Amino acid sequence: MMEVKKKDIRALTKAQLRNFFIKQGDKAFRGNQVYEWLWQKSAHSFEDMTNISLDTREMLKAHFVINHIKVDQMQRSADGTIKNAVRLHDDLIVESVLIPTPNRTTACVSSQVGCSLDCRFCATARLKRMRNLNPDEIYDQVVAIDNESRLYFNRPLSNIVFMGMGEPLMNYNNVLKAIDKITSPEGLGMSPKRIVVSTSGVPKMIKKLADDEVKFKLAVSLHSALDEVRTSIMPFNATFPLKDLREALQYWYAKTKNRITYEYVVWEGINDKRKDVDALVAFCKFAPSKVNLIEYNPIDDGEFQQADNKALDMYINILEANNITVTVRRSRGKDIDAACGQLANKT
Ligand code: SAH
Repeated sequence: MMEVKKKDIRALTKAQLRNFFIKQGDKAFRGNQVYEWLWQKSAHSFEDMTNISLDTREMLKAHFVINHIKVDQMQRSADGTIKNAVRLHDDLIVESVLIPTPNRTTACVSSQVGCSLDCRFCATARLKRMRNLNPDEIYDQVVAIDNESRLYFNRPLSNIVFMGMGEPLMNYNNVLKAIDKITSPEGLGMSPKRIVVSTSGVPKMIKKLADDEVKFKLAVSLHSALDEVRTSIMPFNATFPLKDLREALQYWYAKTKNRITYEYVVWEGINDKRKDVDALVAFCKFAPSKVNLIEYNPIDDGEFQQADNKALDMYINILEANNITVTVRRSRGKDIDAACGQLANKT
């Protein structure tokens, strides 16, 4: 007999779930109860729903599945960073990272299995993009890290960055739905100000974010403000050149009044010259922004090398002289391949 494909119950909104119960001749209120089990209590199975009658649970089981993620493997770095290898219902794997600092716990989550972009310095780019993550697969990664934060650091998760595998703006709807859940009182109730979505820069989608009046923060992986250089390290820049990116970012700022963060790695022989800094300074003047200089995390063949401190100091001095805020971010979790750009399902 062919098995009927059951629907993932967590793809239903609360209203749809209430409706489902009405159609079953039950009370709409039952929908609220089940919804609470699914989202506030993170139930992994219908058996967990102890205030729902056995008959109802059996009925639910006949109609639906709960496609919960499973943390397959957890690795801990010497610096406290934790990396989760997360198994999805179809046995694909993504990675997410918990980054502890003295007063924060940050979750770095994935938005896609693999990535369709081709940044030459990023390990995830070498994995083919298999599929987008569903909203609940993104949400579950956050819940798993929140639980780990409470268990190992005695405090809840405080921040989220979409800097794991994948390009969040190429999975726009699901990422926004996940953030809705994360920020809603029925989910984790987190402030959107504590969430950063990092993008390689998809102009059309940046404008859409502004139109949708999102309240989270935006980071752009710039790495060069010169088209020729950027295209050589991020080939999709040929399709989305800096002129279009710049225009989208100006639109973003005009609508949201939210300043943009540019992520930037300085590599030897690639973007370590005075002309590179000057181009960055000019780019930063288009819209209020700050620069986050990030450490390069080598990913095998040694084609790319972090520039020396002299080049970094040049960047810092010139940016500061132009009143542009610049921060320098040290890598975390390098010993377990959990740092930016190292997520590649090695285990
Ligand atoms: N696709 C999104 C989010 C994932 S990458 C984006 O491009 O922003 C998260 C950050 O890690 C980006 O700023 C990216 O440029 C950076 N990154 C990628 N590979 C890296 C590496 N090997 N070392 C340091 N940072 C890297």
